[in-house]
Amino acid sequence: MTPEGEALLRQGAAELELDVEAQVPAFAQLMALLQDANSKVNLTALKTEPDIVLKHFVDSLSCLRGGYLDGAGQVLDLGTGAGFPALPLAILRPDTTFVPLDSIRKKIEFVRAAAQTLGLNNVHPQVGRAETLGRDPAHRETYDRVVCRAVAALPVLAELALPLLKPGGLLVAQKGPITEEELQAGRRAAGELGGRVTGVDAFTLPVLGDARTLIVVEKVSRTPKKYPRREGVPAAQPLF
Ligand code: SAM
Repeated sequence: MTPEGEALLRQGAAELELDVEAQVPAFAQLMALLQDANSKVNLTALKTEPDIVLKHFVDSLSCLRGGYLDGAGQVLDLGTGAGFPALPLAILRPDTTFVPLDSIRKKIEFVRAAAQTLGLNNVHPQVGRAETLGRDPAHRETYDRVVCRAVAALPVLAELALPLLKPGGLLVAQKGPITEEELQAGRRAAGELGGRVTGVDAFTLPVLGDARTLIVVEKVSRTPKKYPRREGVPAAQPLF
């Protein structure tokens, strides 16, 4: 990473009140891995160094706002793609276990290789669909937190994520600006699935000023056994 890229990372993190000084070399290594992989396969749409620093690294770290991930043991990143937000979060939170999940094998292979190169023993990538894991006793109701960025509308996320959370666990969904309509549909879906929307934190992304929202859904009771519905149905026929 260039000195300008490192300075941008420090500035973005500082605006989130995070000190990343000790982790700058790890982020530089992740930058090199992403750029190398992107030159061979189309892994992520963002290719320039400032874009990767701000829209992948700093954007992912913004999930730490509000302290919702503090003290979490196991965090599943639903639809992690090339490892976002899981990899930046795992770099900053070595005591938390992260399970980056994606249905696309080549993306998870990248995440696995990157975690190994970076020595991130707290990252355990999984290939699969959230609907499948949500019905698997090895994963259902086992996670303290589910994080996700840019995966689906809130009612769909609620159906994919709430079955995976322990009662008392939190879904922390990072989105752009959210409409009142999506929020209302999300509240209704959460209610059906044993959840309750407890936080809507609107903020702007450091340096760039883009609008972001962290939606927090608490799992207040067990999810009915009929959820999640089979693969693809939550997105094709959202509950609300
Ligand atoms: N979270 C990453 C990011 O912000 O860069 C990737 C976002 S990408 C737009 C959405 C990802 O979610 C894709 O890689 C897709 O394969 C994955 N995905 C969508 N639905 C999924 C499901 N039901 N189970 C697992 N992965 C899913």
